[in-house]
Amino acid sequence: MKPVVIIGGGPAGIASAVYLAARGVKIILIERNVRLGGRAASFFYSRMGEEIDYGQHVLMRCCTRTIDLLKLLGQESSISFQASLWVPMTDGGKKDAIASSPLPGVLHLLPSLLTYSFLSMRARMSVMRSGLSLLLKDPEDVPFGKWLASHGQREREISTLWDPICVATLNAHAESVSARMARVVFQRGFFRKHGADIGLFIRPLSQIFTSVIPFIEARQGRVLIRTSVKRIIVDAGCVRGVETSDGESIEADAVISAVSLCDLPALLPTPVEEDPFFKCLSGIDYAPIVNVHLWFDRQVMGESFIIGVDSPVQAIFDVSGAHHDSDKHHVVISQSAAATWIDLPVASIVDGLLSGLINLLPRARDANLIDSLVIKSRFATFVPAPGVDALRPTSTTPIKGLFLSGDYTATGWPSTIEGAVRSGFAAAAGLVFRR
Ligand SMILES: Cc1cc2nc3c(=O)[nH]c(=O)nc-3n(C[C@H](O)[C@H](O)[C@H](O)COP(=O)(O)OP(=O)(O)OC[C@H]3O[C@@H](n4cnc5c(N)ncnc54)[C@H](O)[C@@H]3O)c2cc1C
Repeated sequence: MKPVVIIGGGPAGIASAVYLAARGVKIILIERNVRLGGRAASFFYSRMGEEIDYGQHVLMRCCTRTIDLLKLLGQESSISFQASLWVPMTDGGKKDAIASSPLPGVLHLLPSLLTYSFLSMRARMSVMRSGLSLLLKDPEDVPFGKWLASHGQREREISTLWDPICVATLNAHAESVSARMARVVFQRGFFRKHGADIGLFIRPLSQIFTSVIPFIEARQGRVLIRTSVKRIIVDAGCVRGVETSDGESIEADAVISAVSLCDLPALLPTPVEEDPFFKCLSGIDYAPIVNVHLWFDRQVMGESFIIGVDSPVQAIFDVSGAHHDSDKHHVVISQSAAATWIDLPVASIVDGLLSGLINLLPRARDANLIDSLVIKSRFATFVPAPGVDALRPTSTTPIKGLFLSGDYTATGWPSTIEGAVRSGFAAAAGLVFRR
């Protein structure tokens, strides 16, 4: 039997590969980059002599299929989860946290919301009332910001509570995301005890994902890195294989495309606009993320991460211990929904955010900045705007033998590693079912 070709070595392609290889299906995984992981990859930064992630990634404990994948790859110890939810927040003066309590079920957040010091008591009550509405009733597919306003949430409640959660989990502001997708985040994460416990990767991401290579090779499969697929070969409505940029043809009667939505159209036999199945893909927009790596000569923060309130800085992660042994203190500022930052020169980004960081972390005032690196991800995640869920394609396509996996496919999850992994497992399961 011909092997199954999987194009793309991000989380979706890796999940498809693991699913199939574990079931004895011979596969060839093709990745154009030198490292696996896709948008969740890392690279060696020679100036500081360490491997760093292109983008700071966080999981929540509700990301169960990613945890399954890490276990299959023997990498479960590469992520460290909180024992219970603790999201420290600061405006530089005050500190507080969204934290879980011993109370059961959805009540676990009650004590922390009742004492949330960035809001007045009246506003806290109002937050809890709208939280209850979100829990009990499926909202319409309207902008979440509009839904919040119609449930009595004012500017302050949105800017200090709802929006930071939306931006961190959906990479878009409450006004831009569908209320339904926001509800997914709250229902699967925050409203469930332990659902939103934060997990941080403690090894560089590509080192974790590279463990798929021995897994596949031990099962008679192959991984071709630094190999770009030029097109998917389709004849009479059936997949026949792929052609690489080197001009090599690889025969296959089943292909899983696990490339991002931006890269898919170039591989298809006809322009997406001409095919009703693929046409809808052009209606999905992407949002940027900007990460600023800063190396200080001393410790500037005590927590593993902190969220900024009333600050230009959204989130700061301490990645010193995670990625290397060094006396330098390495922190990452992660700016999601970064439309206002993405086109600025790197020097302006560092200046603008460094002063915000010093305000949030007073210890940084006396520290010397040794190095900085700005990483811009223009097409970081798709925006789960109202109407977008209806545009997301299924893993089976009208082309016989062609399957889609990728975070943009119809998983019901936002643009995340978990969405990608679920899509990868689903595409592979669909393929096995149809063989
Ligand atoms: C800065 C940043 C921060 C993020 N933070 C988080 C987070 O905290 N938590 C979270 O869960 N998610 C986060 N995400 C989103 C997450 O990274 C993505 O949702 C996930 O990686 C998508 O996986 P994928 O496999 O669908 O696509 P990708 O990761 O994009 O993988 C696609 C792969 O296909 C390869 N490819 C493309 N074209 C070809 C070709 N022609 N031939 C061969 N190979 C090809 C690409 O090189 C790539 O490796 C973040 C993303 C970014 C950019």
